[in-house]
Amino acid sequence: MSFSHLGLNPLFSEALASADYAEPTPIQQKAIPAILRGEDVLGIAKTGSGKTAAYVLPILQQLEGTLVSPHREPTVLVLVPTRELADQVTQVLREFAPCLTSRLSCLAVYGGVSINAQMQALRRVDVLVATPGRLLDLIEKNAVRLSCIRTLVLDEADKLLNLGFEAEMNQIFLLLPIQRQNLLFSATLNKDVAKMQRLILKEPQILEMDSVGESIEQIHQWAYSVTEERKGPLLRFIIKSEQLERALVFVSSKKKADNLTSKLRKNDINAKAIHSKMGQQARRDTLEAFKQGRIRVLVATDLLARGIDIDTLTHVINYELPRSPKDYMHRIGRTGRAKALGEAISLVTDEEEPHFYVIQKKMGQRVPMKPSEAIDLSGY
Ligand code: ADP
Ligand code: MG
Repeated sequence: MSFSHLGLNPLFSEALASADYAEPTPIQQKAIPAILRGEDVLGIAKTGSGKTAAYVLPILQQLEGTLVSPHREPTVLVLVPTRELADQVTQVLREFAPCLTSRLSCLAVYGGVSINAQMQALRRVDVLVATPGRLLDLIEKNAVRLSCIRTLVLDEADKLLNLGFEAEMNQIFLLLPIQRQNLLFSATLNKDVAKMQRLILKEPQILEMDSVGESIEQIHQWAYSVTEERKGPLLRFIIKSEQLERALVFVSSKKKADNLTSKLRKNDINAKAIHSKMGQQARRDTLEAFKQGRIRVLVATDLLARGIDIDTLTHVINYELPRSPKDYMHRIGRTGRAKALGEAISLVTDEEEPHFYVIQKKMGQRVPMKPSEAIDLSGY
């Protein structure tokens, strides 16, 4: 199966080759033709399965030849839950947009940075990638209108349709034209999405690529049973003894992220924290430095659980378990991207163990648990 078999314009061939996309992934095989036909799509496919290109490529193709007026309102709106994801999706758009014969402008807008620069840039945008809150601020300031949107994408749809975003999303829906194409993508589906999907989508193509259990087979998961006091030393032991070049460590709070990071640094491990209390520039620089291998251990809150694509990230460590079983799957899905292998290690105390069972049950997969009390942690 090749991309051109899916009805994708040969204009994209060179860019696909230089991105090393030899053939479309399963979700791309299903979603690209459906989107090109103008259908609504609900795409559920595992983390790292190429959902971004599954909507970016056909959307760009739909725009080919339609971009004429120099002053225009956006016709495509991509909503995402985090700023980092907005940047990442925009990068993919900008990677393939030059394939089109006319110049296309893509912009990411999100909070935490000056709104004025975004208002300036919004004078001419075709594809707008946004987090919901900042989009509403910009609409209020008359910097953008949504009346020309023909295609709406919700990336990480279940997160966006969750309670946390409900009020903002409802406001945005009211401002969109009724006639439009709706594309929802996510690795996980929950009751909220099932409910909302009926309100948002019209006779959608429902593309559910794989059951949850088989969806993460290339990630080797296991857990250590450990006491609270030994968690820190055990983490340092894992990082040092396994000589991890790069690990993403998840914790449950911003404070914990900062504390754990300073402990790691005191033990000569090049670590940095990333969470929502930090300024946007610091967040961006930290993620970039981690992607480039200048930071060995990134300690993150669930801010980074969703959608972030870090090339060749081999290890995800759950220092603390996430409350939601879904977030466990999103977290470990930061490794094992595309067809790469990955390891996900969880540090589980006795108190956390019942919750860990719930996570495994929801995931439909058992995670082997190793004892850790015999490991000599002195010196760590
Ligand atoms: P998802 O959104 O499903 O979690 P992404 O869209 O972030 O996944 O893609 C994951 C990785 O796979 C990215 O690094 C992307 O460049 C790569 N990728 C996407 N499509 C292909 C393809 N057809 N062939 C090879 N790699 C791909
Ligand atoms: Mg994604």
